[in-house]
Amino acid sequence: MDDSRLSGRSPLETGHEERSGRAKKRLFIGLTLGTCGLLCLLLVLMWVVPYIGLTAIHPALPAVLGVLVATAILFVIWASLGLVLNIAAGRSLPFFGRMRGVTVTLFLPLMTLLGRALGISKDRIRSSFIKVNNELVAAKHGRYAPHELLLLMPHCLQRSACPIRLTYDITNCKRCGKCPITGLLDLSEKYGIHLAIATGGTIARRIVVQKRPRLILAVACERDLASGIQDTYPLPVFGILNERPFGPCYNTKVPLDHLEEAVRRFLDPRYEPAGLPADARKPMPRPESGGDRRIACN
Ligand code: SF4
Repeated sequence: MDDSRLSGRSPLETGHEERSGRAKKRLFIGLTLGTCGLLCLLLVLMWVVPYIGLTAIHPALPAVLGVLVATAILFVIWASLGLVLNIAAGRSLPFFGRMRGVTVTLFLPLMTLLGRALGISKDRIRSSFIKVNNELVAAKHGRYAPHELLLLMPHCLQRSACPIRLTYDITNCKRCGKCPITGLLDLSEKYGIHLAIATGGTIARRIVVQKRPRLILAVACERDLASGIQDTYPLPVFGILNERPFGPCYNTKVPLDHLEEAVRRFLDPRYEPAGLPADARKPMPRPESGGDRRIACN
């Protein structure tokens, strides 16, 4: 069946998302190769410069250092190549199983530096990193029982005028439908998945320690998602960007249909809500304007 019909999005939206996804991947691949080139150059310099002086200490030292540098260069090329091949293939290839770790720990910090030097915004780099991270997570990780998944949401989804405190118990929400929390609670109950809201990195880490999920489906901005993915590594995080119609950190929204697609991607089919009629197994539709799932807070 057509993807756009499955997701409830129009062909125009689907086409735009695909183009945007390809652009993000291209940016990531470009930065990966650029970082690889810089690292290799740096390593060669590290060998050439002391080479002249090392001979004076011991005649064998330049050769030993040369072997070490060559090994490091081969590792960087292997890691870059593996990452690019995994991205291109859209799955985890043999011998390149730990590419997400290499990306998170080695490439992202260096790519951010290189991207900034080239005038690319941090958010564009983070967004491309999140896209690739999601593909690596989807390629490597399988299906989970509902209690092994965690929906982790940012506090800014809650309507700013709402006086109810949700951080410690999201079920305090009265489900008035004026912000996305109502739809998130519906989604969490439909699939029996933990739902938590965090006001920052410290609380998010505490929630993760308490719930001990095997996979996190997180919604946040580029900065928080990228840092969350790094903080929680090796725990897999599938990131979904929030929508910010009123600017950052204020009455943000969540693309519920994307989130539900992600839930269904990682949920073991044996735990699908079997008691529900067939219709209810389809992802929640994007509401028409005025619908109650993604009401803009005001
Ligand atoms: S749905 Fe209503 S009660 Fe619940 S957090 Fe949003 S504004 Fe508050």
